[in-house]
Amino acid sequence: MSCLICRIIAGEIPSSVVYQDDRLFAFRDINPQAPLHVLVVPKAHVASLNDLTASHDGIVGEMVRRAAALAAEEGFAESGFRTVFNCNAAAGQTVFHVHLHVLAGRSFTWPPG
Ligand code: 5GP
Ligand code: ZN
Repeated sequence: MSCLICRIIAGEIPSSVVYQDDRLFAFRDINPQAPLHVLVVPKAHVASLNDLTASHDGIVGEMVRRAAALAAEEGFAESGFRTVFNCNAAAGQTVFHVHLHVLAGRSFTWPPG
């Protein structure tokens, strides 16, 4: 298994797990860009947003709802949080297993860098 996130899900690479169920996994980013920085991922491997099909509509919805739930659990529902999917090189995707960044605990600028 060569995918970093598949190896994290399998427990081959240690991570700080914040949530998992039969379809989803969420863990803290190793290089946090905000006080809260969690990655929410599907357990089934999908390389990037470009590889999504209608069969993934359910899991993507679950990822987004879980992102909001995790932000709320950590007290950021009211103050606000940012969610980001990077897709391919120009957006800065470095790990090719779809992941939703959930960031909170500071103010974010717009437009993003
Ligand atoms: P991307 O740049 O692909 O959108 O995001 C990849 C994220 O994965 C980065 O924020 C990076 O810090 C994080 N990351 C890379 N390697 C590891 C790791 O081994 N463990 C954890 N927890 N996060 C990682
Ligand atoms: Zn993977």
